[in-house]
Amino acid sequence: MLKNRYLSANEHYRRKFGGKVYKLALDGGMTCPNRDGTLDTRGCIFCSKGGSGEFAEPYTGDVSAQIARAVLRISSKTKADKYIAYFQNYTNTYAPADKLERLFGAAAEHPSIVALSVGTRPDCLPDEAMRVLERINKRLPVYVELGLQTIHEDTAQYIRRGYKTEIYDDAVKRLHDIGINVITHLIIGLPGENKDRILQSVRYAAAIGTDGIKLQLLHVLKNTDLESAYLRGEFRVLEPDEYADILCSAIELLPAHVVVHRITGDPPKKLLVAPQWSANKKVVLAYINDIFEKRNIIQGRHADYI
Ligand code: SF4
Repeated sequence: MLKNRYLSANEHYRRKFGGKVYKLALDGGMTCPNRDGTLDTRGCIFCSKGGSGEFAEPYTGDVSAQIARAVLRISSKTKADKYIAYFQNYTNTYAPADKLERLFGAAAEHPSIVALSVGTRPDCLPDEAMRVLERINKRLPVYVELGLQTIHEDTAQYIRRGYKTEIYDDAVKRLHDIGINVITHLIIGLPGENKDRILQSVRYAAAIGTDGIKLQLLHVLKNTDLESAYLRGEFRVLEPDEYADILCSAIELLPAHVVVHRITGDPPKKLLVAPQWSANKKVVLAYINDIFEKRNIIQGRHADYI
C-alpha cells in the first residue's frame, strides 16, 4: 500500500546541513506589542508569562555565552554537533535594528551555529528588521517563524492575536522576496474551531506558500485568561484521538515540500492545566505514531523533494 510521506524537520535539516542538527531555544530579551501596551497588556489568551518559551536559555545580553550554556545543557542528550539558534520567547524582531543586528550577528558568528530561527509576529517586521534579516541570511540560513495560529478572524479576535490574517500574507511575501524560509505556527484545538476550520488554516498557509509548518495542540496553562475560560466551562480540550485525527488530516493535505517542524507541543508540566494527557511527550508521540501507522503516514522524503 502506498505510504503518505511527510518531510520532517530532522530530515530537512539533515539534507540541508549534512547531519543531525539540534535547535537551541534562546531568550532574545524582547517583549511583545501584545504585552507592553502597544496593542494590549494581557498577551494572547493562551500565552504564559514566559512568552511561550519556558525552556529557553535565559537572556543575559551575551548570546555567545547563552549558546555555550545551551549546548552544554543538551550535549549529553544529543549526538548533534550543529545547532540552530532559535530565538523563541516573545517577539524576536520587536527591537531597534541595531540591537537585532548585534544579537543575530553574534549568534551567526558562533562556530556551532549553522542557522538562525527567529520566532516573531507578522506585524513586527518593519523594513529595518527585514534588512537585518536579509543581511544575516546572506551569511547563513535564516528561518522566520510566524505565529499565525488560525486564519479565522473571529478566533483571532478571541485569542487577542492583534493583527488581521492579511498581515500574515504580506509578511510571507516580503520574507520570500528576500529569500527567507517561513515557518507558520498553527494551534489545533482553539475554542470555536472544529476540524474543518483547522484544516482551512492549514490549507491556507500551504497555499500562501509557507515553507514549513508547526502544528501544536492547544495547551491550557496556569495564570492565563484561557485557563479562566476553561475553568468556566466555555470550551473543552481535545482528546488524543481527536488531536491525532486532525493532525493526520492536516499532514495529508500538505504539499510534499512543506517541512513539518512540529507535530505536538512540549508543555511546561508545572503550568499545564489541560489536557493532562499531553504532559508526557513520549506517550503522545507513541500515540501519534500509532495513528500514523494506521493511516499509512510516515516520515520520509517525497520523491519530488529536492
Ligand atoms: S504574540 Fe507571542 S509572545 Fe506575544 S502574547 Fe502572543 S503568543 Fe505571547
